[in-house]
Amino acid sequence: MRATIKLQTPDGQIHTVEDESVYYTEVEHIEFMWREGNYSCDCNRRLFIGRLTDPSYDDDLPCGDTIKLLSLEVAE
Ligand SMILES: [Zn+2]
Repeated sequence: MRATIKLQTPDGQIHTVEDESVYYTEVEHIEFMWREGNYSCDCNRRLFIGRLTDPSYDDDLPCGDTIKLLSLEVAE
């Protein structure tokens, strides 16, 4: 399963990242991961942004909740 996630950083920029894993078997898994699980934290969100759109995000990974999840769309 693959999800496309739109994240907004405190500077107002919007980053679109993708999360694909064979370990997701239910839409609820992805929803939980991003809304309440590990990927709800800034440190992991910054990894996705750094890897996929802007490498400068990858070098400083403090925990927090300043990166907002704007949308999450799941494709089978
Ligand atoms: Zn964290």
